[in-house]
Amino acid sequence: MASRAANRYLALMNALLPVPPRQRKPDWIRVKAPVSEGYAETRRLMRSLGLVTVCEEAACPNIGECWTKKHATVMILGDTCTRACAFCNVKTGMPRAVDVLEPEHVATAAAELGLEHIVITSVDRDDLPDGGANQFVKVIEALRRNTPNTTIEILTPDFRNKHEAAVEAIVAARPDVYNHNLETVPRLYPTIRPGARYYASLRLLETVKRLDPSIFTKSGVMVGLGEQRLEVHQVMDDMRSAGIDFLTMGQYLQPTPRHATVEEFVTPDAFRAYASIARAKGFLLVAASPLTRSSYHAGDDFAKMQAARTEQLARATR
Ligand code: SF4
Repeated sequence: MASRAANRYLALMNALLPVPPRQRKPDWIRVKAPVSEGYAETRRLMRSLGLVTVCEEAACPNIGECWTKKHATVMILGDTCTRACAFCNVKTGMPRAVDVLEPEHVATAAAELGLEHIVITSVDRDDLPDGGANQFVKVIEALRRNTPNTTIEILTPDFRNKHEAAVEAIVAARPDVYNHNLETVPRLYPTIRPGARYYASLRLLETVKRLDPSIFTKSGVMVGLGEQRLEVHQVMDDMRSAGIDFLTMGQYLQPTPRHATVEEFVTPDAFRAYASIARAKGFLLVAASPLTRSSYHAGDDFAKMQAARTEQLARATR
C-alpha cells in the first residue's frame, strides 16, 4: 500500500515538474511509419478481439516492422498499471476487473495470426492477491489447447511480495520462455523503477531457473538513462549468477516529455561492445542494438536459443 501511495505521489510530482527539452534522435534510431497491409490487418484483429498490445501502449518504435510480420505482443490484465515507472508509457491508475474471456481471445488471435511464437506480457496488478499470475496460467492453458504448436514466451511483472507462489503457478504451466526485465542498473531504481526492487527481480528469475531449468530465462535492460558501463557489466554478472540465458539491451526512448529524459544515445558500436562482453560472460544468447526490445524478433531468437542449447549440450557430452 505504501508503495502505491508513493507511486501516486511520484506521478503527481512528475506532472507538476517543468518539461525539459527533448534530445534530437540520431539517424540510427529513425524508423519507418507503419503503413503496410499486414500492419492494418494485425491492428484490425487486435481491435476486434478487444486485446491490448504493449506495442501500442508503450509506443514501440518497431511497430511498423513487427505488425507487418503479424508479430504483436499482447498485454493481458488490462491497459492500466498500478505502478508509475518513469520510463513507461502505460497509464497508471486503478485497473478494471480481470476479463475472464481474455485467455480465449488471446488464443484466437494466435490462431488467426498463425503465430509460431507468441509473447504475452501484462501491466502490474498489485491490486490482485496473486498479482495476476493466475491469468498468465489461464492464457498459457488456452494457447496449449487451441494452438499447441505455438511456443509461448511470457514477460511478467515482478509480483512484488508474492513472487514465490506466483512463479510456482506459472512455471507449473510450462511456458517456453520466462522473461522479466531488470530494466536498468540498481542505482537508478529509485528514480526509474520506484515501485520495484532490483534484487527481488533477480530473485524472481533465479526462482524460475531453480524450479524448472528447462525453461529459458530472459531479461533486458534499457541504456541511455545515465548508467555507467561498469554498472551495466555488473548487471550482466548478476544475471549470469541468476542463471539467465538471454540478455536483451536497447536504447531507452522518452515516450513523452513527462517521462525520464534520455541522458545519452548509445552508439551502435557501443552496443556491439556490450554484446561481445555479454557473450564472454556466458549468456546463451545476446541481442543488443539501439532498437532491440525484449519482444523484438522473439520468435527467431527462440529458435536461436534452442540451437545454442543443443550445441552446448552436445559439447558437454563430447
Ligand atoms: S518490438 Fe515488441 S513491443 Fe515493439 S512492436 Fe515489436 S512486438 Fe511489439
